[in-house]
Amino acid sequence: MKNLLILLLVVPILGFTQQNTISDNLFLNYETYKESIITQRRFKHSEIQPLIEKLKSEKDFQVTFLGNSIEGRSISMISIGSGTTNVLLWSQMHGDETTATMAIFDIFNYLKVNKEILKNIKLHFIPMLNPDGAEKFTRRNAIGIDINRDAIRLQSPESRILKSARDSLKANFGFNLHDQSKYYNAERTDKPATISYLAPAYNYEKSINTTRSNAMKIIVEMNDIIQKYAPGQVGRYSDDFEPRAFGDNIQKWGTSTILIESGGFKNDPEKQFIRKLNYVSILAAIHSISTGSFANTSIKKYEKIPRNDRKLFDLKITNLTFSHLGNPYIVDLGINHLERENNKHSDFYNIGRVNDIGDLSTYYGYQTLDAKDLQFKIGETYPKILSDFEEFKKLDVKNLLQQGYTTVSIDSLPNEIKFVNYPINIVDSRKITIPKNNTIPKPPISFRKNPTFLLAKDGKVVYAIINGFVYDLAKNDNKVKNGLAN
Ligand SMILES: [Zn+2]
Repeated sequence: MKNLLILLLVVPILGFTQQNTISDNLFLNYETYKESIITQRRFKHSEIQPLIEKLKSEKDFQVTFLGNSIEGRSISMISIGSGTTNVLLWSQMHGDETTATMAIFDIFNYLKVNKEILKNIKLHFIPMLNPDGAEKFTRRNAIGIDINRDAIRLQSPESRILKSARDSLKANFGFNLHDQSKYYNAERTDKPATISYLAPAYNYEKSINTTRSNAMKIIVEMNDIIQKYAPGQVGRYSDDFEPRAFGDNIQKWGTSTILIESGGFKNDPEKQFIRKLNYVSILAAIHSISTGSFANTSIKKYEKIPRNDRKLFDLKITNLTFSHLGNPYIVDLGINHLERENNKHSDFYNIGRVNDIGDLSTYYGYQTLDAKDLQFKIGETYPKILSDFEEFKKLDVKNLLQQGYTTVSIDSLPNEIKFVNYPINIVDSRKITIPKNNTIPKPPISFRKNPTFLLAKDGKVVYAIINGFVYDLAKNDNKVKNGLAN
């Protein structure tokens, strides 16, 4: 019995040994190659240009200027290798989808010293295809066109650049690199779809020819790799045919096309771990293309990857009882942390928002809190009006929360202050209004509003929900990004 068990364990492992060793090494040695200039999701064209400039002097790297974006930012292609199989990888056709761009610069560092992977292939990278969108950290280009719906009409220079790169190379493989909402999950599980894949269809019938099945085989291999580092956190994107999209058309034009969507991962707001997963899986896929080993993979496993769903919240609170107009209601709350950017699109603060309320039993949360045995309490405003921020800084915020205060008022709060890096909200004392008589009071929590309240046990406050973040009064490692100021 014991021998049989060992056999059952060993046989399936043998088939993956080679890819396993490669990906394990990539994973383990990642820090050696990580590009240290890029540290967060928001970065611009001007920040990556020096990195591209430097590659011009790097042995075996070839930098080709492909053209300019609508606002005149250069788009370059970086090629390396001398094999006959052409692989084209393009990222950030949507300006706010930067995860793969970060990984591409890590991959360049790897390729500077690891050339054996390039034996049979030539790689071509177009990082940041939509630099104008990146400037404003937005999906579309400077005239508001979604480049991924411009593959046929080709009205944007960015679209024409991608099309002519694909055509001139007659690329054998294409990697179409995007980000998706962090609220996607692997269907019917609470696991975020940290990575989602698609071998896009090239017709409405969703036929599978050799071009598409080769893409599916690569995806099966990449899925096996991601499962090791983020178990259950892979989704399969819908393969409904979109006749205007690049992925679908590039597949149709004969390039085996792999769509990679980077989603969310718990406690990775800047997507640095997901960047690492991109690096590992893309390099392992390149290795597989180079050796041709993907050909031995069955596409049957492609269909087994769970579908993408969109059922996640940042925070799900269940079984919360609150009263309104004298009657109790039991609800679940789905709370998201929206990002509000500064004017330069270089940083953000969060605004908590109740995105759904009611029976949310089919939904999941990155973080969950069961309020079943807890009492809902409205947070009060600290009665003393503070003269300035200096006075505020002297307060013991945790103690205020324990006393039932979720807001502090400050005299003449400057208008430009929208948030505070404390687990409490701040209000300008002049903006405090006293509710009029004869009006129906508002419910203490409502749809699309900011959730700030307290949860008590036996009369004692145990949790403060501040701006949609949980502050656990029994702990010292709370992750409240910010309170609001207005
Ligand atoms: Zn996208």
